Amino acid sequence: MAKDVKCRVENCKFWSQGQRCTANAIEVSVDSGGKQAGDVQETNCHTFKLQ
Ligand code: SF4
Repeated sequence: MAKDVKCRVENCKFWSQGQRCTANAIEVSVDSGGKQAGDVQETNCHTFKLQ
């Protein structure tokens, strides 16, 4: 499990100063809904919640 998550999504309610994620755990999925991503842009955080 990741010890620290660096995040640039400042309008997420879990985001904190210093690009920190304060969620207890995060879920990351493949954009297409599959199980294999071709590159970083095909992944996204599904724990995101709009502030
Ligand atoms: S939940 Fe996801 S989008 Fe929100 S701060 Fe954490 S890593 Fe970023």
